[in-house]
Amino acid sequence: MNPAATNDDVVIIGAGPAGLTAGLELVRAGRSDVTILEATQDIGGLSKTVNFKGNRIDIGGHRFFSKSDWVMDWWREMLPVALPQGASSETGYRLAYQGAQRLLGACAVTARESDPDVMLVRNRLSRIYWGGKFFDYPLKPGLDMAAKLGPLKCVSLGASYMRSSLAPITPERTLEDFFVNRFGRQLYETFFKEYTEKVWGVPCHEISAAWGAQRVKSLSIGTALWHALRKAVSGSGAAEQTSLIENFLYPKYGPGQMWETAAKRFEAAGGRIVRGAEVQAIERQDNRVTGVRARMADGQELAFAAGHVISTMPVRELMSALRPAPAPTALSIGQGLQYRDFITVGLLYRKLRKTAATIDARTNLVADNWIYIQDAGVKVGRLQVFNNWSPYMVADPGTVWVGLEFFARDDDSLWAMSDEALKALALREMRQLNLADEADALDATVIRMPKAYPGYFGRAYEQFEILREWLDGIHNLYLVGRNGMHRYNNQDHSMLSARLAAQAILSGGADHAPIWAVNIDDEYHEEKT
Ligand SMILES: Cc1cc2nc3c(=O)[nH]c(=O)nc-3n(C[C@H](O)[C@H](O)[C@H](O)COP(=O)(O)OP(=O)(O)OC[C@H]3O[C@@H](n4cnc5c(N)ncnc54)[C@H](O)[C@@H]3O)c2cc1C
Repeated sequence: MNPAATNDDVVIIGAGPAGLTAGLELVRAGRSDVTILEATQDIGGLSKTVNFKGNRIDIGGHRFFSKSDWVMDWWREMLPVALPQGASSETGYRLAYQGAQRLLGACAVTARESDPDVMLVRNRLSRIYWGGKFFDYPLKPGLDMAAKLGPLKCVSLGASYMRSSLAPITPERTLEDFFVNRFGRQLYETFFKEYTEKVWGVPCHEISAAWGAQRVKSLSIGTALWHALRKAVSGSGAAEQTSLIENFLYPKYGPGQMWETAAKRFEAAGGRIVRGAEVQAIERQDNRVTGVRARMADGQELAFAAGHVISTMPVRELMSALRPAPAPTALSIGQGLQYRDFITVGLLYRKLRKTAATIDARTNLVADNWIYIQDAGVKVGRLQVFNNWSPYMVADPGTVWVGLEFFARDDDSLWAMSDEALKALALREMRQLNLADEADALDATVIRMPKAYPGYFGRAYEQFEILREWLDGIHNLYLVGRNGMHRYNNQDHSMLSARLAAQAILSGGADHAPIWAVNIDDEYHEEKT
């Protein structure tokens, strides 16, 4: 044990958004005994930015938008917002996202895009790519969609929708039932099945309908068609379209810039980050944790006494690290939790192939931030266009920098592929999708991110409450963040849970319930399947 440690020491596991938020809250409140142990050499966890020869990769694409004022202010204080070109700082600038709006008051928008440490306001566009065509996401049934599908497909989709409306599947048990009842079987198979099954690695008929109700934006086809008809008759489409443009904040050099800035501030305020320290054991005595042991890359073991531990490490690994081992039921639930792993293949192109969505004649760039790939014949699930997240993500703005996202499991054949084989697969699929030619490819890289998605399926997940109750019995251990809580938390929810853990420590409280209440019934999530 570290002899200098006192019983007040706080050990935080993980330097992702949650760990750094908790750390900063504690040092800002005057605590000088806060150590973050980070397994990798990187800062930011899933929200880091990978820099490949000046071309930056954001893992999954991180929009910065929150319904929480505290989170928005925290981000803006870290990286001020640069006023978008043409916007007036006098009237204030309004940010719109997923039905929520917030005013970035004039005083909040003081920085300029040319400043290095700023957030930009970026427009959001994501579409579904199917059959070589781009469809609005969420789907907007109407004339545009009908024209892209052609009359035959429209008739059969309509008939399938009518069949489902007249005879819905009851009871609605699975995610497949959920989709079919709302969209009809054909629309489901065309626009939802492939991507959803790629993400989760499980057929939709094995996922519960409750998952759909929680995650899928409700859409009434009947109402959408009525709006489309009204628009066509009244000609009000263009005005309505403009008001629907959504945007979000985004650090100039990707999400990692936010968390690297936070890490610098944490260290400047007296906090300590040990990089390359993988926590392997958490010692406990009765209902308290007493210390943490971490292994460095060279095999050296470091030991830290701990008065409090805040954990953002995956719950499955946490359960295996506890010494003595947890009660057998809790341990077996913890060890049964499942995850989805994530591969991004970054491809740098001279130009894309020309499509109907091309907005730049030289590079054939499209305007999307990301594109859902719905075709069955390819393994890629989603395509990120990093140029559109921030032009500063690309070393040469005259090139196109994309990320092909593959959803995998660390024991499957996709994950086992070599980097070279993955690059070849990505290049081949871009051609197969008619999006780019190998001859125009300039460079490639592969990033693997284990445990990107905590799985909401399987027997162990169904028993998660038992596990949670057991863990809550350890008074000075706080589970926060995404994998830390095995919850589909975005950055803001990860930060809010971390803030509550810091507050509990500062006030001497041990109530974990408010932390678990973050993100319950909050309909804003990172993406909809
Ligand atoms: C594809 C995708 C898209 C997303 N899009 C958005 C979005 O648009 N907007 C948004 O707000 N959020 C988004 N998110 C969510 C966001 O990435 C997470 O909410 C956030 O990164 C979680 O922060 P965290 O600190 O809890 O965990 P993490 O980011 O996972 O960080 C945990 C850290 O702990 C470290 N660690 C793990 N085990 C150990 C150990 N044993 N010892 C020491 N260190 C350890 C890890 O190395 C890591 O650095 C997205 C996530 C994904 C996967």
